[in-house]
Amino acid sequence: MSNALVVFSGGQDSTTCVYWAKQRFKTVYAVTFDYRQRHSLELESARKIAEMAGVVHEIIDLGPIFAGLSPLTDHSLKVDTYEDSESIPEGLATTFVPGRNILFFSVAANRAYVHDCNTLVVGVSQQDFGGYPDCRHDFIAKMTAALASGLDRPFKIEAPLMNRTKAETVELAAILPNCLDALAYSTTCYNGVFPPCGECNSCLLRAKGFAEANVVDPLLVRAAAEVKK
Ligand code: ZN
Repeated sequence: MSNALVVFSGGQDSTTCVYWAKQRFKTVYAVTFDYRQRHSLELESARKIAEMAGVVHEIIDLGPIFAGLSPLTDHSLKVDTYEDSESIPEGLATTFVPGRNILFFSVAANRAYVHDCNTLVVGVSQQDFGGYPDCRHDFIAKMTAALASGLDRPFKIEAPLMNRTKAETVELAAILPNCLDALAYSTTCYNGVFPPCGECNSCLLRAKGFAEANVVDPLLVRAAAEVKK
């Protein structure tokens, strides 16, 4: 068995990837990036979940490197909200951060090399994220080739959620030991609030996935219990 490094945001998809990787690799490392994201709450989520999962975790501070354009990195802009998931427009998402995954995967490849991992695990999906060109299969295939060439060793990017819908991702989480427990601490909301706002693109797609999979979102269960206190 070899080692793998997960690009881990602390969100739903990358949390599922951490637990997926635990089933398949000897030692699992996880790297999280602080880029002054609006939803910096996800850094706390990442810390907590990495501890729960027992993986070797590192948070890398990139500073305000992606400042501007996206409401995720320009905090003066508002995150768009929608009535429901059907109302989310097609095309490039307004929350797209240009170059984010290109840089993340490059830095993560360095950490992978250092930790003797020849596999990066990433939580991208082209099913629900048509609005993010750096989440598509084409990008992953080309980035894999670029990294293997630049590192001069065999190198693989595994994207286990690539062709899964959000509902199928929830179904996968439900069969991975302890994954749902960890998802109670994940942060998906682009507004980075707890309890989650429930009306941003990310909250709506998460809710749709859990509803279609007929699984109660453990994050909402935790939120309801903690708000009552
Ligand atoms: Zn939200």
